Amino acid sequence: MSMRNYEPVIGLEIHAQLKTNTKMFSSDSTRFEASDNENTSPVSVGMPGALPVINKQAIDFAIRAGLALNCQIRKKSVFSRKNYFYPDLPKGYQISQYDLPICEEGFIEFTVDDEPKKIQIIRAHLEEDAGKSTHQGDYTLINLNRSGIPLLEIVSGPDLRSGKEASVYARTVRQILRYLDVCDGNLEEGSLRCDCNVSVRKVGTEKFGTRVEIKNINSFRFVEKAIEFEIERQIDAIERGESIVQETRLYDPDKNKTFTMRTKEDAQDYRYFPEPDLLPVILTEAQLSKIKLELPELPQQKCSRFQKQYSLPFYDSEILTAERELSEFFEEAVKICNNPKGVSNWMMTELLRELNEAKLTIQQSPISAVNLGTLVGLIDKGTISGKIAKTIFAEMWKTSDHPEQIIKAKGLTQITDPKAIGLIIDELIAKNPGPVSEYRAGKTKLLGFFVGQAMKASQGQANPEILNQVLLEKLKG
Ligand code: ADP
Ligand code: MG
Repeated sequence: MSMRNYEPVIGLEIHAQLKTNTKMFSSDSTRFEASDNENTSPVSVGMPGALPVINKQAIDFAIRAGLALNCQIRKKSVFSRKNYFYPDLPKGYQISQYDLPICEEGFIEFTVDDEPKKIQIIRAHLEEDAGKSTHQGDYTLINLNRSGIPLLEIVSGPDLRSGKEASVYARTVRQILRYLDVCDGNLEEGSLRCDCNVSVRKVGTEKFGTRVEIKNINSFRFVEKAIEFEIERQIDAIERGESIVQETRLYDPDKNKTFTMRTKEDAQDYRYFPEPDLLPVILTEAQLSKIKLELPELPQQKCSRFQKQYSLPFYDSEILTAERELSEFFEEAVKICNNPKGVSNWMMTELLRELNEAKLTIQQSPISAVNLGTLVGLIDKGTISGKIAKTIFAEMWKTSDHPEQIIKAKGLTQITDPKAIGLIIDELIAKNPGPVSEYRAGKTKLLGFFVGQAMKASQGQANPEILNQVLLEKLKG
């Protein structure tokens, strides 16, 4: 992609749906599977006189997220009305936070192509979601189940410089929120939505260019592509002598293009004022310290710990800590066999491949952490060979059985008795007089042939080292 001496400037607004059981300002359920308009009440349909009540769990979740994003948490934050008219917003305003958001001035760090990045978080504020309109020919259906669901809007500084950086930033935010268990991060279901602000400026200039906002992109790949497209479009326009209009655009993944949606509102268009039906949220130091103490280990910390504690390469650690549940599975398995690299190898190759193919999460794995750990332990003890372990793994995947149970049922233990192996080899030698005499005449590379045949005859159960020893001995004649 040609930058033609321009530098892109990008800032993301991420709307994260908080995983509360009830809505931001009412006791309506937040269940995603509910039928249309089932999760509603006078508050969420905006009946006159209905009064909002703040959901304490949403406040706690916002604080958790704010702390993990290195934000300052305001001891006094205020909800404001953001006024606009739209059919999916029956009240005529959204309750949001404006000048006094609950979290501000944070940052996150990550690397892109081995380069460290530090991106500012300007603010993270609480607000309620709107309903959903479905347009059908000449009429429109409204579903208010989403109306009032708590959102945390996380606003980055204009610090990102490429589509790739923006997508890694968004993935990192998602990973943190999922570790904290405050948002499920499901982009398809809309529980995480990214708005991308993009502008370009001539390299060396201070002043930012006019920005365009691309709304509601529902995949990280599209975040990257939409931004890359938009950068090119803006540079082309400027080079043609046109000026960029501040507007909201939509990205069409099929055409890989962005399109004008509407010209952008300014804050003054929303006539913000403090929500008169709610008191400010006042937090105490004790509340904040309690939540701070309860914060789980975060992905980057865990990744470094895995490298140190288990002597794992960065590559392994990063994959194993990508999801909290994956890292917990790993640690549980290691407790059983005390072989971190062994468990890591089995997870990263066999297990993750099978899970991927079957489209299952680690929580849905038919093979439990204890069973995988036991399998690795059995290889280490020499009870089974690596080859048999693969057979057992396949059986565990099908039946969820414990490996020892499978070994017993299928008689799969490794044969380590030299006498038993000797019998197999005697038979092999008797059956192959030709190769045997060639071998004895000096064609020693035939050894591989004998090893393969003997292993086959033992149905893969002979211990390879013992088999080798006995074979060499017997072939001498
Ligand atoms: P609004 O609420 O109008 O969308 P914000 O102040 O919340 O405006 O900023 C939205 C996002 O736009 C932030 O992530 C910010 O970093 C980013 N941003 C601001 N100015 C620019 C710019 N000139 N180019 C690119 N991004 C910008
Ligand atoms: Mg905004």
